[in-house]
Amino acid sequence: MEALALRGVNKWFGRFHVLRDLSLSVARGERIVICGPSGSGKSTLIRCINGLEAHQSGQIFVEGTELTRDLKTIDRVRRETGMVFQHFNLFPHLTVLENCMLAPVHVRKLSRAEAEAAAMELLSRVRIPEQAHKYPAQLSGGQQQRAAIARALCMKPRIMLFDEPTSALDPEMVQEVLETMIALADEGMTMLCVSHEMGFARAVADRVIFMDEGRIVEDSPPRSFFSAPQHERARLFLSRIP
Ligand code: ADP
Ligand code: MG
Repeated sequence: MEALALRGVNKWFGRFHVLRDLSLSVARGERIVICGPSGSGKSTLIRCINGLEAHQSGQIFVEGTELTRDLKTIDRVRRETGMVFQHFNLFPHLTVLENCMLAPVHVRKLSRAEAEAAAMELLSRVRIPEQAHKYPAQLSGGQQQRAAIARALCMKPRIMLFDEPTSALDPEMVQEVLETMIALADEGMTMLCVSHEMGFARAVADRVIFMDEGRIVEDSPPRSFFSAPQHERARLFLSRIP
C-alpha cells in the first residue's frame, strides 16, 4: 500500500490558487525531498498532508485514510504523521522530556512511566539524553531541532514531514540535524522533507520534487534532477544554490 497519495489536489487562500492540481504517490519507506522557490506552496503542501490546512478539491490519502474535514479522520492522520518545523515549535515552559511526553500521555494515553521510558530512548537516539531535564531555551538550535524530531517520533508516526528543518540553524548545527534525519531514513521511515540541502537530497532522497507556482513541475531521482533538470525553473533554481 502507498504511504501517501494525492490526487488532483487544489487549494486556494481566498482567490489565490496556492496548490494546483497536485498528484503524488509515495510508497512506504520512500524518501522525498521537496524543493522550489519561496512561495511555491511547499509548506502549504506539507500542512495539507497532516490536516493543518484544508484542501478544497481532490483527494489526500495518508496510510489509506482519506483526509476529510471530519475531526476523527484528521486526528487519525495527525497520529500517523510526525511534523518537524523550521522553528522547532517546542513548548518553552516544558522541559525537553516533558515536551516529548505530552502527546503520548494525553493523546496515546500511555502511562507517565511508559511515556518517559520511550521519550528517553528517543532522546538517546537523537543523541541528547543529557538534555532531557533542560528547557528548550537552554539548548542550542541544533539540539532543539533534534529534540523536536524526538518529540515527533514519540507518537510513533508512520510518515515524517519536515518543513525546512535546518534553515533556521546556524551553519555549524546543520550537519548534526541532517545526520539525525539520515539515520531515520536508514531505518526505513517514510519521509517528506522540504529542504534546500542538496547534499542531503543526494544522500537520502529516492525522488526530488521541484515545485513552482503551486505545481509539481519535476519529480525525478536525485541523479537525474541534479545532472539534467528538465524544467527551466529548476535549472535556474539549482544554479543559484551554493
Ligand atoms: P513555500 O513554503 O514554498 O515558501 P508557502 O506554502 O508558505 O510557500 O506559501 C505559498 C503561497 O501561499 C505564498 O504566496 C504565501 O504568501 C501564500 N500563503 C501561505 N499561507 C497563507 C495563508 N495562511 N493565507 C494566505 N496566503 C498564504
Ligand atoms: Mg515554506
